[in-house]
Amino acid sequence: MIRKKRFATDERQNRISRILSSLDSAYPKAQCALRHGNPLELLIATILSAQCTDERVNVVTRDLFQKYRTAGDYANAPREKLETDIRSTGFYRNKAKSIQGACTLISGNFGGSVPTTMEELLELPGVARKTANVVLGVAFGKAEGIVVDTHVFRVSRRLDLAHSDTPEKVEADLMRIIPRDRWISFSHQVILHGRSTCKARKPLCLTCPLERDCYSTDKIS
Ligand code: SF4
Repeated sequence: MIRKKRFATDERQNRISRILSSLDSAYPKAQCALRHGNPLELLIATILSAQCTDERVNVVTRDLFQKYRTAGDYANAPREKLETDIRSTGFYRNKAKSIQGACTLISGNFGGSVPTTMEELLELPGVARKTANVVLGVAFGKAEGIVVDTHVFRVSRRLDLAHSDTPEKVEADLMRIIPRDRWISFSHQVILHGRSTCKARKPLCLTCPLERDCYSTDKIS
């Protein structure tokens, strides 16, 4: 359950600064865990990562990226073949459909290159804000939004940084209070924090670096 506290503006800003500083200290090298060598590979890996671990995606893409080099390679592959190649990431039929839809548009409308704006990325089938934010932030270094995956959604609410009940609204909550130059690193760090410490079922609050700024009702003391 989310617990909200009332703070004076200065106090709220100080608390956010402390949280960001603690994240920096705890996760100084946080970065995207999806293996990729270019924006297209990152886009494909991010689509495959839905409902799948990054480790599994990295195993699958080791061979996939050898077989498919360009957007055209994905777009023109027989659907059943692509489905077989990505099967172990789960939801493979939908993912193959998204990959081929996105790559068809990339080939036809964007000269074979992954587009570099939020508006254009959102035109691609199967690409919503989370995927677009990953590609923009990691591949192009552009902070257009904040990646809100299941970890960022849960941890941000526990830390009283966001209160909304959809990823899109949580992203908007965060964009209002997190400085823009921290948007990319913030999501990498919070994803790591959610995986390692602020776990969904049993958060490891006793060893949590953010404990003194957390008053979540999920907190275990
Ligand atoms: S104290 Fe517990 S609930 Fe709060 S952020 Fe840390 S791990 Fe999560």
